[in-house]
Amino acid sequence: MSKFKVKVGKREIVLSQGFLKANDAMENLEDLKDCYSQKLGIYNSIDEEKDPKKLKELARQLTNLENEIQELFNFEPNVKFHRFWESPKCSCAKMDNQDRWPTGSYVISGDCPLHGVGDE
Ligand SMILES: [Zn+2]
Repeated sequence: MSKFKVKVGKREIVLSQGFLKANDAMENLEDLKDCYSQKLGIYNSIDEEKDPKKLKELARQLTNLENEIQELFNFEPNVKFHRFWESPKCSCAKMDNQDRWPTGSYVISGDCPLHGVGDE
């Protein structure tokens, strides 16, 4: 397995060596892989989870992880840069949000099981 690849269940991601180097983050490679494997683990849990409260909690865990990942890439944690719409089960408008990235004024669907603000 490539040393930049993270695989959890059926999901995998490959970290960009160029991006790591450009941000002086090579020394954080192992920590980053750890964060990404937690992230993929949460994605897998979201696939399985049906309890609405637990889904919201998993979405919060993802937000925390994204902040940690940003720090490991030597960025200031900034929620505007999180592509939260890439999560499984997210029903927020993907194309619109992709277009608006990274302005931070995103479209949140009220009935999104992860990000909606319906009654809990
Ligand atoms: Zn959503």
